[in-house]
Amino acid sequence: FIASMAAGHLNGRTDHDDLLAGNLCRCTGYAPIIRAAEAAQDEAVPAWMHDTLPDLAEIAPKADHVFLPNSADALADWYLAHPDATLIAGATDVGLWVTKQLRELKEVAFLNNCKDLQAIKETDDRYIVGAGVTLAALRAAIRDTLPSFAELLRRFASEQVRQAATIGGNIANGSPIGDSPPVLIAMGAELTLRKGEARRTIPLESFFLDYGKQDRAPGEFVESVSFPKSAPDLACYKLSKRFDQDISAVCGALNIPRDGDKIGAPRIAFGGMAGIPKRAAALEAALEGQPFTEEAITAALPALEQDFTPLTDMRASDAYRMGTAKAMLIRYVRNAQGALSILEVQP
Ligand SMILES: Cc1cc2nc3c(=O)[nH]c(=O)nc-3n(C[C@H](O)[C@H](O)[C@H](O)COP(=O)(O)OP(=O)(O)OC[C@H]3O[C@@H](n4cnc5c(N)ncnc54)[C@H](O)[C@@H]3O)c2cc1C
Repeated sequence: FIASMAAGHLNGRTDHDDLLAGNLCRCTGYAPIIRAAEAAQDEAVPAWMHDTLPDLAEIAPKADHVFLPNSADALADWYLAHPDATLIAGATDVGLWVTKQLRELKEVAFLNNCKDLQAIKETDDRYIVGAGVTLAALRAAIRDTLPSFAELLRRFASEQVRQAATIGGNIANGSPIGDSPPVLIAMGAELTLRKGEARRTIPLESFFLDYGKQDRAPGEFVESVSFPKSAPDLACYKLSKRFDQDISAVCGALNIPRDGDKIGAPRIAFGGMAGIPKRAAALEAALEGQPFTEEAITAALPALEQDFTPLTDMRASDAYRMGTAKAMLIRYVRNAQGALSILEVQP
C-alpha cells in the first residue's frame, strides 16, 4: 500500500481506488487507507523521491547469456543469432515461470531499453503501438478515443502490473485469457512481426493458431500492433470474480456497427471461450443484416454454440461461460438502447 501511495504521490495521481487496487488489506480496512491517501495527497513531494534510478545497463550483471539491446534493430540482429532465447519485456508472465515453475532461463534479452519499441505513433485513423508500450501508457493514450478499451485496461491486473506489463507480451504469450487480444481482434488490429530486417504484417486473429501455438518463427518478434483510433460501436466486457486484479473467466469484445436499423458487418471476439482468443464467426454471420433489436439478437445467439465449446475450470464451468458470453450480447443491445448497467456506475 505504502509503495503504491508513494508512487501515486510522486506522479500527482489522486485516483487512489485504482492505484491501490490489487493490494490486499487484512485488518485496517480499505476506507481508512483511502482516507490516509487523501489526507496526504496535497503534501509536497519530498526531494528524495526525485532521485533517479541508475540506468539498467549500468547495474545489470554482465553475463554472456543476458543481452540488453537498446533498439529494435539491435534486438533483431541478436535474436536472429539466438532464436532459442527468451525475450523479457515486463516480466509479469516470465517472472512467474521462474518463481512458480522454477524454470531456469538460459539465454535472455531484456527489452526495457528498446525505447523505439515503446512509442505510440498515429496515422490519420490508426494507432501504431510498439510492442514495448505498457498497458498503463496505452490506457492513458486511448482514454478519450477508445473509452471502452481504456476502461477494460483499468481492470487489467493492477496499476503496478500495468506499469510493467507490455502489449507485446500480452499478445506474444498467446494466452487464451489475455484481455487485450479479443478487443484488438474486434477492432481489426494488425500485427507486425520482425525477423532480422524482414517484416510482415498479419491480421491479429491469424496469429493465434492453437492453444500455446502462435504464428511466430524462431528469431521473430512482435514489433507493433496497429488498430483504429475510433471504434464507436465497440463494447468490452470482462467477467471475473473480482473487479480488480483478476483474470477473466470470459472477456467479450463486441463491435457491432449499424446500417440504418440493421446490423452491419459485426466483429465479435472472446477470450476464455476456447484455447485461443477467437472471433465468433458463426454468430457474426447470423447477426449480419438482422434488425438491431433484442429479439433478433436473442434469436441469433444459438450460433455461438457453433463457434465455441468452452472448458470447465476453476474460474467457471462450460455452461456458465457460454451463458455469460450470450448475456454479453443482450447487455450490449440494452446498453445501446440506454439501459443502465450497474457495473458501470462510477463512484
Ligand atoms: C498479478 C498479475 C495479474 C495479471 N492480470 C492480468 C489481467 O488482468 N489480464 C491479462 O490479460 N493478463 C494479466 N496478467 C498477465 C500479464 O501481466 C500479461 O500477459 C502481460 O501483458 C505480459 O506482458 P509482459 O510485458 O510482462 O510480458 P513478459 O512476461 O515479459 O513476456 C510474456 C511472453 O511474451 C514474450 N514476449 C514479450 N515481448 C515480446 C515481443 N516483443 N516479441 C515476442 N515475444 C515477446 C515473452 O518471451 C514471453 O513468452 C497478470 C499477471 C500478473 C502477475
